[in-house]
Amino acid sequence: MTSKDSLDPDDWQALRAQGHQMLDDIIDYMANLRQRPVWQPIPQHKRDIFTEALPAAPTELAAVHERFMHDILPYAAGNTHPGFMGWVQGGGNPVGMLAEMLAAGLNANLGARDQMPLEVERQVLRWVRELFDFPDSATGLFVTGSSMANLMSVLVARTAALGLEVRQTGLAASNKRLTAYTSAGAHGCIAQAIDLSGFGFDALRVIPMNPQHQIDLEALQRAIAADREQGFTPFFIAGSAGTVNHGAIDDLNALADIAVREGLWFHIDGAYGALAMLSAELAPRLQGIERADSIAFDFHKWMQVPYDAGFFLVRDGTRHHDAFASPAAYLRREARGLAAGSPWPCDFGPDLSRGFRALKTWFTIKVYGADKLGRMIAGTCALARYLQQKIEAEPKLELLSPASLNIVCFRYRSQDSDRVNADLIADLHESGIAAPSATTVNGCLAIRVAVVNHRTERRDIDALFDAVLRLGDAGHTAPL
Ligand SMILES: *Cc1c(COP(=O)(O)O)cnc(C)c1O
Repeated sequence: MTSKDSLDPDDWQALRAQGHQMLDDIIDYMANLRQRPVWQPIPQHKRDIFTEALPAAPTELAAVHERFMHDILPYAAGNTHPGFMGWVQGGGNPVGMLAEMLAAGLNANLGARDQMPLEVERQVLRWVRELFDFPDSATGLFVTGSSMANLMSVLVARTAALGLEVRQTGLAASNKRLTAYTSAGAHGCIAQAIDLSGFGFDALRVIPMNPQHQIDLEALQRAIAADREQGFTPFFIAGSAGTVNHGAIDDLNALADIAVREGLWFHIDGAYGALAMLSAELAPRLQGIERADSIAFDFHKWMQVPYDAGFFLVRDGTRHHDAFASPAAYLRREARGLAAGSPWPCDFGPDLSRGFRALKTWFTIKVYGADKLGRMIAGTCALARYLQQKIEAEPKLELLSPASLNIVCFRYRSQDSDRVNADLIADLHESGIAAPSATTVNGCLAIRVAVVNHRTERRDIDALFDAVLRLGDAGHTAPL
């Protein structure tokens, strides 16, 4: 029997039946993705459904699920769909989905305490150390995503540069003016991390890229030297392992050399690219990643773990702990009992309550195995090269940046190119056939295709390609 105030059902059998129906429906959705449009515009009357007042009265679970099936599921962004090629988004996977349900049932809070879910997270950390050839003393934890992990890297580097007292007295009390370095191709969250850490955007030196879209090493060294001359204190370099625009990988070994010589913290934003380490074919391109002081990356992108599952890894566990650990009476550590097992994840980041992101990641790695995940990642790069070849063979299209990893940028040739290509991308989205995104390459608006989804095949690339030609022909009015 359940108390009438409990949220558990009176009739578990009815809940079980409804739960099985919900599971069947979402498995059907995953199994039949191809029959759906990638994305479709949301009609206003559907949006209006979500403006109702706070419901005081209950609604049957079956009725709420019906709402989900009709009003939410059809209008998602579409990143599960094989035709989704915009931005850099993972496609999710059925094993991770099921694990997420188990995690929700367990309702584990991974901030602290002596519990096996934390051993699962520590197992994933051990695998991560192995993958990046980091020492056993390296620490790390799950976070929402690389935006958070990049922010945390700046905070750890700041405490390492200024000493623990900065946590007491604040940045303003330090008479040092710290400066950070990253390339013009770096993700915007690096600049945001510098801002959020209290340095201000001006403390970030944005270094130009070389023709391969990597950070220009000469320009970097000149900037560091000029800053030292003017009395600044360089403290942080963020290299990129897979830039969001071009999939470019900085010369990580050269950056490590500069960081050692100059005494800087060497962080790598490997949000999507770092997990190319899973592929024997791609891993050599990331040489030098094993020398980083810290790495940010996402299991929810190339490794297809359902959102969200970012990770932050730090070589020097003591420095990591120093940046975040805070004593609190209600978080007393004990030698035994449920309050044992310190240090806890809450000592290594800003979150106290944390979900069980490790479980869906552990399931995904265990069930598929690292080799298959690596082959899948390499496969998305092969598809990008396939698209590049098709573009190069088609006079109506112009390649704007070749496939570095899994990203290709191109445009439909037209005199009014920016308008035609912007319209073309929106038309493609509304067609439901494919969803690339837009970016700017050398001042030109480009159609940007990032093949991240494990479900994408050659036929999806063909469908995108054919639709680009068809919509481009229809949309460009001015002759070439
Ligand atoms: C996606 C991405 C980020 C941001 O990561 P989130 O997980 O979305 O917070 C940062 N850098 C690069 C290169 C990315 O691709």
